[in-house]
Amino acid sequence: MQIRILGSGSGLPQLGKHLSSVLVHSEGKQYLLDCGEGTIYQLLLSDVAENDLDAVVITHFHPDHVAGVFMLIQMLYLRGREKDLLLFVPEREGEFEALFSMFYTFPGRISFKLRVLPMSELSVHLPKLEAMTNDHLYGYRDEIEKHDLPNPMMAYSIRVHSDGGDFVYSSDLCTTDSIAPLIKGAHTLLVDAGHPEPQQILEAERLWLEAYPVDPQSATGTAE
Ligand SMILES: [Zn+2]
Repeated sequence: MQIRILGSGSGLPQLGKHLSSVLVHSEGKQYLLDCGEGTIYQLLLSDVAENDLDAVVITHFHPDHVAGVFMLIQMLYLRGREKDLLLFVPEREGEFEALFSMFYTFPGRISFKLRVLPMSELSVHLPKLEAMTNDHLYGYRDEIEKHDLPNPMMAYSIRVHSDGGDFVYSSDLCTTDSIAPLIKGAHTLLVDAGHPEPQQILEAERLWLEAYPVDPQSATGTAE
């Protein structure tokens, strides 16, 4: 498995830091986890061809995780992509799909089939990917209820399963407790260090070490 962090910046843009996106190449498939603004430039730098991506997974609808997806779709069809693209979104997939027509990127006119799908179908279409809800957006509950808004506050963390070990991308979250079952046994964890308290980051390490207890012998043994 190859994991390439295309962007890891916070929601407040900084020069020299790109917004959230991770490119994962695993068992013959390429997944883009989140697509913050500017992801297309990182894909160009990474020599990702128009038909290479199999799926794009948007963990939640904060702009720094999703705003680049419209230019991604425009770039792919202008470059003549032909392969279907699966685009998984965390909530309100019908309304999200309608935005492409609003932006004159009419699904019936672009060069490939864009399938906007709910996260609940992620493992159905891609059995090696697993999504788990996290607590990142729950802090908006009062505002949403006050204005009777339809936002269901869905945010996800993603696990990529592979025969050589699993990768977990926490994306943004408030507490690592909320995804403890997803972390356990993973080979690699990429965890949000911007929102959780520092103690929570350490907790993620503890959960991870529970799955991979340090063997004193291997820790002091000679390399062979
Ligand atoms: Zn966020």
